[in-house]
Parts: sequence; C-alpha cells; structure tokens
Amino acid sequence: MINVTQSFLPPIEQYVKILEKSWNKKWITNRGELILELEEKLKHFLGINFITITTNGTLPLQIAIKALNLSGEIITTPFSYIASSSVISWENCTPVYVDIDPEYLTIDESKIEEQISSKTTAILATHVFGNPCNVIEIEKIAKKHNIKVIYDAAHCFGVKYNGESIFNFGDISTCSFHATKIFHTGEGGCIITKDKELHEKSFYLHNFGHNGSEDFYGIGINAKTSELQAALGLAVFNHLDAIFYGRKKIVETYDRWLDSTRIKNLKIRENTEWNYHYYPVIFDSEETLLHIKQILNKEDIFPRRYFYPSLNTIKYLNGKKMPISESISKRILCLPLYAELQTETAEKIAKLINKNLL
Ligand SMILES: *Cc1c(COP(=O)(O)O)cnc(C)c1O
Repeated sequence: MINVTQSFLPPIEQYVKILEKSWNKKWITNRGELILELEEKLKHFLGINFITITTNGTLPLQIAIKALNLSGEIITTPFSYIASSSVISWENCTPVYVDIDPEYLTIDESKIEEQISSKTTAILATHVFGNPCNVIEIEKIAKKHNIKVIYDAAHCFGVKYNGESIFNFGDISTCSFHATKIFHTGEGGCIITKDKELHEKSFYLHNFGHNGSEDFYGIGINAKTSELQAALGLAVFNHLDAIFYGRKKIVETYDRWLDSTRIKNLKIRENTEWNYHYYPVIFDSEETLLHIKQILNKEDIFPRRYFYPSLNTIKYLNGKKMPISESISKRILCLPLYAELQTETAEKIAKLINKNLL
C-alpha cells in the first residue's frame, strides 16, 4: 500500500542508543537532557533565536493566542488544517476568514484590510504546504493597524524566505513535529519567536505557569514533551539530509512526468527555499479528482484530499462564502510523497493520472 505519506523512522538501534541516556538517569520527562539537546540542535539548524518544544503542533497555537493576550476577532485563512481555526474558537475568539490567493494558496493579503474591524486583534495565517504567506505585506498591514501576527508554520520545517528561516517572521510561529511531518518526534511541535519576553511567557505558559518549583507566574497549561519523543527527534535529526534529498527526487519525478498542461501545480513564492513537504495537484473539476482518486485507490495508492473541506464551510466556524478556497479545496489532491518512496512509483502514479484525466 502506498499512502500519501510514511513516517521516516531511523534504524531502531539508533533510537535506543539515544534513549539509553535518559533511561540510565531514570529521567524521562520534565525537560531532561535530550529535549535540551534537541532544542539546541534545532536552533542552530533552523537559524532561530528561541524555541520551546511542545507535545504537539496545536497547543503552541493556543499558547500563542494566550501569550499575545488576544481577544475579539482574529483574521485567518479558510485553506488550512482544522487546528488553525479551532484554536481561535477554543480560545473564545472569533475567526474572520479572508479568501486565498489562487496561485500561492496562502491568505490573500490584498483582502485583509477590508476585514479589519475595531475588534480585530491579530492575523493567524498558515504557510500552505511550506509555501510562505506574503510575510512582508502582512507585516506592514499588522503594523499599520497595531495587530499581532501568528503563523501556523506546521508545514515549514527547513523553509527559508529571503535567505532567512520562515519561522522568524510574525510575532510567533508554530511548527508541528507530528509523525506525518518532515521532521518529527512521533507527536510533537514547537513555538518560535524572536522576542525574548514572548519566549519567556510562552515557556511558562507551556509548563503550568511555573516560576521555579514553588511559585507561579500565572495560569498555564501542560504542553511539555517527553524524553522518549526527544530521543526520536534526535535520531531523525541525524537523517535530515537524506530526508530532504529523497523528497526532492520524488518532487522532480512528478514534475517531470505529470502533464502540466492539464494539471495545475502549487506556485512557490519567489525567494523561497522550499522543503518539498507536499505535492498537491489541482484538477479542473471535483469530478476529475474523484475519478483519479478512485483509479489510484484501485492500485492500492492513497493520495489525500488536503486541505478539504474549506474551513469557512464548517458549520460551527460560521464563515462567510470564500469562493476561491472552496473551489480549490474541492479540486486539490496531495500525492504520495516521502523520502523512501521509489521514483518508479512516483512515475507510475504520474502516468496513471495523465492517462485518466477526464
Ligand atoms: C499538522 C498540522 C497542525 C497540527 O499539528 P499537530 O502536531 O498534529 O497538533 C496544525 N496546522 C497545520 C497546517 C498542520 O498541517
């Protein structure tokens, strides 16, 4: 069976060897040696100032909303994973949707200002499939209206924009280290900011609000991760070159074989060093998508409709109509892409798609 993704797992001996360090100390969570080592390695590798590793990529979004004291309305994108909208509602704020750019698939910055009201406190945007939002324009808008910017950068491990880590844009960026992401710890994530005060605040928020063992700065949650996950992260970290290289080869294979006159690809923003995280294809109709999906499923190949549905159409999120996001959500399919996928398989998938387009 070929799935849309497959977790990269290092040889188990490598994982066990790293894990032995915490085993021998009998210290398996509460920011042990391994989590600290992983944070240092990631800071260096990514080119960022501050990071707090967390137990998943969703709690950091909630912590970001808390750390920035947001309330009222938060402008967001309908073309994202459910987490980037549900956290807004969960934190008692209202998501206000702005449609997406049809080429880049990120929030359309030219439509943001018309949605800003006296209640708007922030923009929470997603860098889609590792493709950066127009961070420069969004920063200008945020400064002009004195509102905050959070980026859901769950797809952005290793992405650079204008030569700099994409995580360095906005007030806070979050990432996911879920098993389906490029770099993973099974379940995991992180919160990143350039601002020392925001880092300190989000750090105590992720650890019950603790100030030392006997005092508290304020309300907090538990978003810590364990040494077991950190050990997996350290083991995966040692293979990053091979992971990026393997993915790049598959992307190049799809690019070479897919009929680009009849299938639309994601347009990567200029000046981006991309990470080959997803391979979305956009068909001319939902009918074609469903047909292709069925053909591939018959061959035991399972691409995924992602992102689908457009979040503004989910009842409890109360969004207005978003024609571009709704149209693309219905026609976009992410093809299998992972480091260990064979190029022959990608070639076969591309040919099956070309042959069966309606
Ligand atoms: C994976 C993902 C998340 C959630 O991350 P978890 O680690 O699963 O909590 C949030 N937003 C986007 C865009 C994602 O792809």
